[in-house]
Amino acid sequence: MRKFKTESKKLLDLMINSIYTNREIFLRELISNASDAVDKLYFRSLVDDTVKINRADLAITVGFDDVQRTVTVSDNGIGMTKDDLDKNLGTIAHSDSLEFKTENAKNEPGEEKGHADMTEVDIIGQFGVGFYSAFMVGKKVRVVSRAYGSDEAWAWESDGIEGYTISAAERAEHGTDVIVYLKDDTAEETYGEYATEHGITDLIRRYSNYVRYPIQMEITKSRMKPRPIDAPDEYMPEFENYTEVETINSMIPIWKRKSSEVSQEDYNEFYKTDFHDFDDPARTVTVHAEGTLNYDALLFVPAHAPFDMYTKEYKKGLALYSSNVLIMDKCEELVPDYFNFVRGVVDSADLTLNISRETLQHNNQLRVIARRLEKKIKADLAAFRDDDREGYDSFFKEFGRTMKYGVYASYGSAKDVLADLLLFYSAKQQKLVTFDEYLANAPEDQSAIYFAAGDNLEHLAKMPIVTTVLAKGYDVLLCTENVDEFCMMALGDYVKKEGEDERSFPLKNVSSEDLGLTTEEEKKQAEEATEENQGLFEVMADALGGRVEKVVVSTRLTDAPVVLTTEGAMSLQMEAMLRQTPGAPEEMPKSHVVLEVNGQHPVFETLKAAHEAGDDEKVKRYTSILFDQALLVEGLPIDDPIAFAQAITELMA
Ligand code: ADP
Repeated sequence: MRKFKTESKKLLDLMINSIYTNREIFLRELISNASDAVDKLYFRSLVDDTVKINRADLAITVGFDDVQRTVTVSDNGIGMTKDDLDKNLGTIAHSDSLEFKTENAKNEPGEEKGHADMTEVDIIGQFGVGFYSAFMVGKKVRVVSRAYGSDEAWAWESDGIEGYTISAAERAEHGTDVIVYLKDDTAEETYGEYATEHGITDLIRRYSNYVRYPIQMEITKSRMKPRPIDAPDEYMPEFENYTEVETINSMIPIWKRKSSEVSQEDYNEFYKTDFHDFDDPARTVTVHAEGTLNYDALLFVPAHAPFDMYTKEYKKGLALYSSNVLIMDKCEELVPDYFNFVRGVVDSADLTLNISRETLQHNNQLRVIARRLEKKIKADLAAFRDDDREGYDSFFKEFGRTMKYGVYASYGSAKDVLADLLLFYSAKQQKLVTFDEYLANAPEDQSAIYFAAGDNLEHLAKMPIVTTVLAKGYDVLLCTENVDEFCMMALGDYVKKEGEDERSFPLKNVSSEDLGLTTEEEKKQAEEATEENQGLFEVMADALGGRVEKVVVSTRLTDAPVVLTTEGAMSLQMEAMLRQTPGAPEEMPKSHVVLEVNGQHPVFETLKAAHEAGDDEKVKRYTSILFDQALLVEGLPIDDPIAFAQAITELMA
């Protein structure tokens, strides 16, 4: 028995118990080693004429035995000599594969010691620990190997605790078998699951689907036995099992291929199978980056939001591969929250992975990739918007909320990326429009973008404060989603770009007090009228007991006797919405409401007359009705519907 070196023992212990969080990756590691071994042999055949290998014959075979409880990974690659076994598997953290890679990468093709193009091979190993992950699931591991060009085979065997033995063995051909004797099942872990056809094929497809050599397995199938010629009438068909060797992995990483060589149908198929969707994606984006950091990415915008999209369970992220092997299912850092609907794959051989290959050492690399992908997604969505507007509209109905929320959640810092991708409903054009489309239809003198927020479109379109602005010839964006007002608030303004020119248009809620639509003259008149009626307005404000900041004569021309407006950022709708939010505090910030009275309306004359006649009781009753009415018009709840109904009835009687 050869003993592991002391450091090796410690490391092995660490490996088995702490480095990996996920036991099932052992198969990924063994298959990666097998792939490296065939790759190395293939590489030798390219640089050495005496090595005669047909690439099509190179393969990895996975097998299992559910009685012996073993999983075996075999390859017909380069194999290991007795010395190799001792050196490579006896010393933990010694990676021969890494040496191979650095050694050969140094030599450009054509140089004296030159080799064939390294892009022909794709060595995965680098840390010299992957093999030992087999001890996470195995109580014993036996490796039988025969080096290419040698006529003897050797077996390395270890229980992963003290040491290992190396003894003579038999193997018909060059290559290696790694046989893992699974641990006994415990209450927490059923290791036996790994010795099943389903368990293994699942893991292969999950982690090693894009390994470049075929991963073959004997699959058990069932077929109907032929009906005997002399079968009686009541003959029941009989079934029998048989086995067939199948290639489990799909091998070709579609994201590495030039997009000009892949049909959209192929992309769609890949998307539907790998991301479990029934529908084709709405958009497909490919990225092939070359430079200090090489990577390929294939991104999809789904046509429909998944059912859990707007729940806490939904997890964003892209699948991260390194040299065709899955590292992480959903790498969150690769997409910003506001593009969390994007699915896809990123693959880079240049990532500095941490030792377990479960995560990355340097997040900078991810950040560089993420930034580039964000630009790509943005550009593609902009093209989508410009080239296929109908498609973009339905995309926006699915995912627009995410982008609007993104503006708000980033406190407006994502504004530059998102503002021109947003759509809102235009009251004038009666369809979804971008800010640019809104402005393209605006009169010369318009200096702001107007919006109104409420429950539904029909309702909003009829609101007096909306119709007033419309009557002036200005369009109003009708916002019916909860997030809209918050989004508008975070945006603050929209910067319209025309060539070099930039012009900022503030976003104004039509119910905010100063819309900037009135002339100085009109303002002065209204102020004077307010002054003149101070006595009446005090009684009215009094009637509403603190629910309004003040009562004034309105500068807005509307048909309604009164309208409610707000001062400051908080609108009535926003206040109502916040109040409905589960877990909202008792003491909520309140909006500052102004009751604006229409000086041209006959009701105003009635109020004035009552006040002059000393009938302030009537003024108060009417004020309270008018206030509730104004709330109802805005689609907001009133405090006391019964009192309101009674007051109206009394009036009629
Ligand atoms: P890594 O793959 O990161 O180099 P491992 O611990 O998985 O580290 O493997 C250590 C070394 O053992 C490899 O570098 C390789 O030289 C050798 N090895 C492992 N598996 C095989 C195999 N199936 N065929 C040939 N050599 C292998």
